[in-house]
Amino acid sequence: MNNKMKEYTTAVRTHNDGLTFEECALGTSYQGEIECDYATLVELFGEPFGGDGYKIDAEWLVCLTTKDNNVLYFTLYNWKDGFNYNKDGSGFATHMITNWHIGCNSGNQEAVNSVNEILNELVCDHKNKFYQPEETDTNIPESYTCDDCGKEFDIPEPDFDLNNKE
Ligand SMILES: [Zn+2]
Repeated sequence: MNNKMKEYTTAVRTHNDGLTFEECALGTSYQGEIECDYATLVELFGEPFGGDGYKIDAEWLVCLTTKDNNVLYFTLYNWKDGFNYNKDGSGFATHMITNWHIGCNSGNQEAVNSVNEILNELVCDHKNKFYQPEETDTNIPESYTCDDCGKEFDIPEPDFDLNNKE
């Protein structure tokens, strides 16, 4: 388990540890997407398996236990953008894929939200935070968000040094 994983989880099990489709993926469906390198997912969850060999080229089955003891089941998989689906060779090689679908059981929206949040934290360093000042003429509210994953942050406190120079 890498350090980032330790920040958010106390235990991780995947198909590489014997987690079965029946336990993890039965009744799951598309519940969101993340953008990240293939290598990042391999580092977090180990090697994927080949998915369905049709619309999917790489898939992970994952069971995470969060710090507050929530047990979250989800799957990650590419969708129709690899070599399996694009027999003419126009798809991505698996290690070049960066768009991943998140599969969860839709019956528990709280768990779905937690999975999306934790995955964003695990794959994104939030290096490209963007501050949008309020623009009253165009009704754009003040915001502070990560350009890469879309996470919203608290608006930073005004910098008094800067204000004094004005
Ligand atoms: Zn981010």
